[in-house]
Amino acid sequence: MFTQLNINAGLAFGAFAIALFCFISSLRKNLSRVQHATYLIICLSCFVCPLTSIAEELFLTFGKDGDGLLWLFMGSEVVFFVFHSFLAPSFGLYVLSLNGTLVGRKKRIWFIYWIPVMLVEIANIANIFFPRDARPLYTATVGEAGNYVYQRGDFMFIFYIVAGLYVLLSLFAFIRNIRALNAKKIISLLSFYAATLAGVVIQFFWKDIKFEAFFESFSILGLLILLESDTGIINNNTGLYNEIAFYNDNATAMAAKRKYTIITLQSPDYFQYLEMLGQTNYNGIELLVARYLTSIVKSQYVYHLSNGAYGIMLYEGKESDVDMIVQMIQHRFEEPFGYGAIEASPRWTITVAKVPNDIEDPSQLHYLFAGKNGGFEQKVIIRDSLSLRFIKRRSKIEGAIARGLRDNNFKVYYQPIWDASRNKILSAEALLRLIDPELGFIGPDEFIPVAEENGTIIELGHWVFEEACKMAKKNEIRNLGIEWLEINLSVYQLPEKDLPGRFLEIAHRYDLPPSFLNIEITETADAANDNELVDRIQNLVKVGFPLSLDDYGTGYSNFTRLIKSRFRTIKIDRSLLLSAEQGPIGKSVLSNIYKTMNGLSFRTIQEGVETEEQKNLILSFGAQMIQGYFFSKPVPEEEFIEYVMKFNRVKHIS
Ligand code: C2E
Ligand code: MG
Ligand code: MG
Repeated sequence: MFTQLNINAGLAFGAFAIALFCFISSLRKNLSRVQHATYLIICLSCFVCPLTSIAEELFLTFGKDGDGLLWLFMGSEVVFFVFHSFLAPSFGLYVLSLNGTLVGRKKRIWFIYWIPVMLVEIANIANIFFPRDARPLYTATVGEAGNYVYQRGDFMFIFYIVAGLYVLLSLFAFIRNIRALNAKKIISLLSFYAATLAGVVIQFFWKDIKFEAFFESFSILGLLILLESDTGIINNNTGLYNEIAFYNDNATAMAAKRKYTIITLQSPDYFQYLEMLGQTNYNGIELLVARYLTSIVKSQYVYHLSNGAYGIMLYEGKESDVDMIVQMIQHRFEEPFGYGAIEASPRWTITVAKVPNDIEDPSQLHYLFAGKNGGFEQKVIIRDSLSLRFIKRRSKIEGAIARGLRDNNFKVYYQPIWDASRNKILSAEALLRLIDPELGFIGPDEFIPVAEENGTIIELGHWVFEEACKMAKKNEIRNLGIEWLEINLSVYQLPEKDLPGRFLEIAHRYDLPPSFLNIEITETADAANDNELVDRIQNLVKVGFPLSLDDYGTGYSNFTRLIKSRFRTIKIDRSLLLSAEQGPIGKSVLSNIYKTMNGLSFRTIQEGVETEEQKNLILSFGAQMIQGYFFSKPVPEEEFIEYVMKFNRVKHIS
């Protein structure tokens, strides 16, 4: 008996110590979450149960025979079963919350979930009120050797059935939603099942030694180490869950195919405020923001993300509830946040996304933060599905550009430019094409602005320039009657250091004089008013590259600047041609443009001529050169060379 006491007391003490350690180290987490709360209940059960075993052993060793001792013994049994009964359902809940089945479910389901165990608990406690030999679940008697023996009552199997039901339910949920669990979670949960099962099996064969509780405590220690170490997922300042938790929780919910709404808040002024107020003061503002958000949404659904952004996951509620929350946030965030003597009034972008309609999988979460975020006047702007659609497309285009540069998906097409007086193709414009294996053909009107924004235009610009030079050299196009090429340049390429030098170097490499390469620039109001940019444009002219003004008539064409900038060629936009076709005013505008340009000795190219009538119309105004589908669409290199050879009737000498 004595050895048994030592082993059992030792095991119970070990189980108690481990479980208490798990309980205490999880307590410091200040957030309530189902996963966390259920873990605490599991810990509680795991340290109270061995405590009752220790008590029993103590009573038996040091107690004196009599009714009092029997009651203490009995009492420990009741407490043991009351707590132990919670273990299976708590662990079930733990699994359900880990794999996203449970998150945000209606309260009613919770209530139903606890009913079976509550019935068992009532039966547990009722034991006390039954006569000693008629207790339904368990009893304690004095054995033949005079020691106290614990016996199972007739209905004890109900206790096991209920526990088994919860275990089966958790196993079912575990398997059904296994996609929502990462490898770490799967291994942790499987180890928990295995360790507790091992405890039960060993206990079954070796009834006298209480292994079960020890194994249980041991497995919750595993959960603590693997799953419950929250340190990396909490924001130190606000105590809210951080971006890692945000990502994980979304990944879990999406894998569990939940339908819900994500609201994110970010401020384009974040860095500015951080700079102005300093981190410590800004922390105060963030606390206020966090306090406000957690006053309208439960704190476990509010996330404090990096760079001063916040995320909210709304699982419950109708469309109108979501609208109301968004409106509340909007109204609050239009007002400043005051902290001591400090007041911050940053602008905010609120993005409202529906899962799975707007965001289908976790890899798309970054769309919530992408896109233009500043540059607006209102304090708060709200972006919904439509903006997300644009952002997604934009992101996809960005991906296609990066892929294109890596895998050579860009092509340069050439569109011939015809000269009226000589009836020859004298020039061509190099036009960029992107044929992406995923998105198909993407027009430059769509990808150039994206490349301009993300900076890839610099690399692309060089690539087009070099490709055009390579093509010119390879086909000796000067021998085919081509006198120069037109190459587009975006103003976003101008900030590049020594652009003229690099262009010159490329031209030299292909034995082309800079005068052969006309740089086309579309003027924007920004560029025209920016002296720095104007200087940079002039630097291109200084090293010998002629300039063409693209899309004349659409954007910003300041006449004085036009003359000062020494453009050699003016490309007249297709829209002017279309209005000239439509009525006398348009006709008069276009014919006057030609008069003026010819008077000032500019070389002109009419863009977008598609029909014979259009061609004749502008020739009657004094047009010199024409680029348009009437002659040819932009075509790949070989087709272009063939076209020029045929048109200019030259035999290729190479
Ligand atoms: P852009 O420089 O004004 O180029 C002329 C555009 O008019 C080309 O569109 C051309 O296909 C189109 N076009 C020519 N003739 C006709 C016609 O008869 N009818 C109609 N409807 N359209 C005609 P594309 O190739 O789609 O290029 C669009 C714009 O993308 C270009 O306008 C240019 O601003 C930009 N882009 C194209 N390639 C480059 C490049 O390599 N670098 C830069 N920075 N921009 C480029
Ligand atoms: Mg152009
Ligand atoms: Mg143009």
